[in-house]
Parts: sequence; C-alpha cells; structure tokens
Amino acid sequence: MRLYNTLTRKLEELSVHGNTVRMYVCGPTVYDFIHIGNARPLIVFDALRRCLEEQGYTVHYVQNITDVDDKIIRRAQQEGTSPEVLAERFAREYLEDLRALDVKEPTFSPRARGYVNQMIEVIEDLIAKGYAYVVDGDVYFSVGSFPDYGKLSGRVREEQEAGARVEVDERKRDPLDFALWKAAKPGEPKWPSPWGKGRPGWHTECVTMVLTLLGETVDIHAGGSDLIFPHHENELAQAEALTGKPLARIWLHNGMLTVEGEKMAKSLGNFAYVRGLVKRADGTGIYSPEAVRYFYLSRHWRKPLDFSADALREAEEAVERVYNLLSQAERFPERVPPPSAEPFLSFLREQRGRFQEELSADFNTPGALGVIQGIVGEGYRFQAQGGDPAALRLAARAVRELGRALGLFQKASYSPTVGLAEELLGLLTELRGELRKERQFPLADRIRDRLGELGIELRDGPQGTTWSVRRSGDVPDPRG
Ligand SMILES: [Zn+2]
Repeated sequence: MRLYNTLTRKLEELSVHGNTVRMYVCGPTVYDFIHIGNARPLIVFDALRRCLEEQGYTVHYVQNITDVDDKIIRRAQQEGTSPEVLAERFAREYLEDLRALDVKEPTFSPRARGYVNQMIEVIEDLIAKGYAYVVDGDVYFSVGSFPDYGKLSGRVREEQEAGARVEVDERKRDPLDFALWKAAKPGEPKWPSPWGKGRPGWHTECVTMVLTLLGETVDIHAGGSDLIFPHHENELAQAEALTGKPLARIWLHNGMLTVEGEKMAKSLGNFAYVRGLVKRADGTGIYSPEAVRYFYLSRHWRKPLDFSADALREAEEAVERVYNLLSQAERFPERVPPPSAEPFLSFLREQRGRFQEELSADFNTPGALGVIQGIVGEGYRFQAQGGDPAALRLAARAVRELGRALGLFQKASYSPTVGLAEELLGLLTELRGELRKERQFPLADRIRDRLGELGIELRDGPQGTTWSVRRSGDVPDPRG
C-alpha cells in the first residue's frame, strides 16, 4: 500500500518489518465531548487499520487519551471541579462516543497520567544529552540544539513562530523552545521530579507513550493535520534527538472538516458534537453510525471534508441502497451459478481487483466506495434483467467481503432508525389519529406541532398518517 508521507511529501510504500504494523494515532484531550472534527481521524485511521488487518497484518494500534493538559485544568477551574474528575468524566464520554461510532477498540489506550515516571526519564535524558535545559522548575527543549527542527512541517522560522503562538519569556534561550515540564502552580495536578513538583507538557506525554509502548521507530504516526505543527514537530524533535532514529516511517495527517463551507467554531454557531449526531441505543442522535462512517470515508482522507445535513442524508441513502440489495440477494441460497452468469461473475472478479487498487493508492476510500456502489448498481440491473439469483448472491458476498476492509456493510440488516424511538413515534402518531377521529383537533395539532419542533414530520394520507425525520435542518447542538 502506498501512502502519502507528510515528512517526505511523497507517496511511499508502507514497509513493515515482519507482519505487525505498529501504529500510533493521537487521541483527544478529554476536557469536553468530542466534536465532529475529532471524529474524522478516529474513523479514517480505524478504517485504515481494518484494511491492513484484511490484508493479513496484525495491527498494534495505540491511541492515547490526554488526561493531563492546560485545557483540562482551565475547564476544571471554570466548573469548580478537579482536573482529575473532569478528565475521568470526559474520558468515559469519549469511549462511549467511540462505541457509538463503531470504532474498533484500540489495542491499547494509554492515559498520560500513567506514564509520568517514563516522561521524567525522557526529559532527564534530553537534559543529559544537551537538548533541554532547566529554568526555575520548568524544563525546555532547545530547538537550536536540533538542526532538523521544522523538517516535518516544512515551516521556516517565521512560520514556526506564528504557528507556535510564541509567548515572550525572557527565561527561554529561544522563543520557540517548548516546555517539556511545567512547574506546578497552585491547584494544578503535580508530580515530584528532579526539578521540583510539576507536570509534563503535551508533546512529551505523547512521545513518551510512543517510545514506551511501540519502540523507537513506529510504522505509522497519525493524526489531524492541525497536529503537524507544533505537536508532531515537537514529538519528532524529542524522539530523534534522543534516539538518533526516525520516530515514524510514515506520518499521516488527515484534512480538516468544515461545516457548510466554513471553519467550525463555537463562536460561528456551527459547532456540533458527535453526541447528538450519531444514533445511540437510547434513541438520541440523528444518523446511523454506518451512514456517519460512510460520510467520513466518502472523501479522500487528506482533502478537506465539508459537513452538511445534505451530505449526511446522501450517505444514509447510499448505505440503505447497499443494504437493500444485500437483503434481496441474501434470501437466495448459495449455489454454483449457471454458465450464463459468467459475464456478471467476471465483472465481480474485476471489481474486487479494482477495490484493492483503490485502497493501495493512498487509501482512496471514495474510490473504493465507488467500486462497491458500482457492484450494487450492476447487481440491481442484473436482477431487473432476470439474472440468476445465485450470481446475485455472489455479488452480495463480494460487497460484504470488500466492506469489511472499511468497517461497512457487516450488519445482518440495516435500519436507519433506532427501535424504541421508532415505536414511540408510531404510538404518538396512532394516538393523534384517534384524537382526529374524535374531532379533538386542537390536541391533535399540538402533537403534530410539537413533533415538528423536534424535526419529525407527520404526513396525513389515504393510508393513514406516516412520520419521517426531517434531515435538512441544522445539526442540533445536543447541549443547547
Ligand atoms: Zn499526540
């Protein structure tokens, strides 16, 4: 498989020693619910992992949880709670969202808090080798001591200064020097260290977990493109200064998410959490996890991805179209199709090859989804022309097998709605029908209007009343 490496700015063959791919994907800082931008690397790299597993690799997939960080401390202070309690709460919420998104559990989800001793060792080593220095209980990495600084992001010095939002600090040798260890302020989490009580910086947390859990050189280091600078640049600098070896063979960075063409921001009012978007067993959420996954994989992982209710609705329809064919085809028993079906079977073989080619070319998931939809389209045509059911059954099997590499089309059957919510809506619709029969129109209208406010549309027709979820509106913010 060839993948675009941020470090070399080239497509490169993924070269793995042995059969195990060691992969580190930066996880969230748990100070809030995760938002729809956070979901992109979770889904994209989960799909890459599944694809590699389908190819026969064992993937050692490590995704950390950042539970010691400035943002956590600030939010905890605002809420009058401790950083530990806040981080624990949002770590749990994050894991729940991962499950709702149907993301495979990482092989290991280390939390920064569990590796502070190892972080202190990394920092001691960097100081001993002359790459870091101590000032008043803080420890800084000296970027001047590492000539390769900037090679991952390709940023020149002025761009680095802009990207790092450098604060003026007279104690630092260079404004770009970044903190490896921060001396404790009152009310902050702290651990004893050779430099006094304090806590590790984010870049040191991640790189220490990489080195401790996966070794000096990982096969893939991945995250959102907003992490290239300074986070990954600073991880690389520490690791390579320390070991003299490349931290990662390939660096992957997914493109950013926009909402209806604009950057997503709380201040712009277009901010959305994963919670409230993805349907969950409790009946909340709008779209099925599979439609959400389909949406994220429908655009190449390096390109910007634009989020809109229309795009999600299209994904929902695309997924339903596939499952409809599966449910029709899988009613037939598997048997050897007659020779007359050979052209269709040879088409299927060809498409399996094309699917692999698409994924091997920089993990082109939109291309791979196009192949699946092509099989489905041909399947419908084949069926309409009275094609042999056993051949159609093989088309369904191809879709199932190919879909597995992306984490799609593995359910026995597909329902875009969740059971209980559906039943309750059915009940309300029925009651409203009774009220209308008894000419209690004000009450019946109130039910219709209130459901309308919730995005449920009722339609009265000759067969009775039907309901549907209006999907064209804004994505609601579940926290109001
Ligand atoms: Zn990281």
